[in-house]
Amino acid sequence: MAKKKVRTCGCVFRAVFRSCLERYHSIAASDRSGGVRFTGISASRPNEEYVADFILVARRALRGERPELMRVFDLHMLGSHDWKICTRKIGISRGNFFHDVYSVQEVVGEAFKTTVPYRHAGQVPAGRHHGEH
Ligand SMILES: [Zn+2]
Repeated sequence: MAKKKVRTCGCVFRAVFRSCLERYHSIAASDRSGGVRFTGISASRPNEEYVADFILVARRALRGERPELMRVFDLHMLGSHDWKICTRKIGISRGNFFHDVYSVQEVVGEAFKTTVPYRHAGQVPAGRHHGEH
C-alpha cells in the first residue's frame, strides 16, 4: 500500500482556534464580573489554568512566525479590537490584516489541537471537517 501524506486542511485548525478562543473569552468575561473567581477554588482553578495555557501555547506557536501575527493575536484575538484599530496600530493594510488573521488561526489552532486548550474546550467534534478542497 502506498503511503500518502495528507496535510490537514487549514479550516480544521481555524475551527479549533475559534472554539478555544470562544471559551477563553467566556472565561475572561465571567472573571471580570467576579462570577467565576469568587465561587470557590474548585470552580475557578481549571478556568484560570485554561486562560494561562491558552496564552502560553499561542505565544509559543507564534514566536517563530512573522511579528505581525503576534500583534494580530494580542490586539484582535485577545483585545477584541476591530480591523480598523489593528491595521492602524500594526501598520498593515486591511488585506494583510485579514490574511494574518487566517494565519494566526491556523498556526495557533494547529498548536492547540495537540495540547491542553483544545482538550478542555471540547466543543469541536474530531470529524467535523466536511469535503475536500
Ligand atoms: Zn477544509
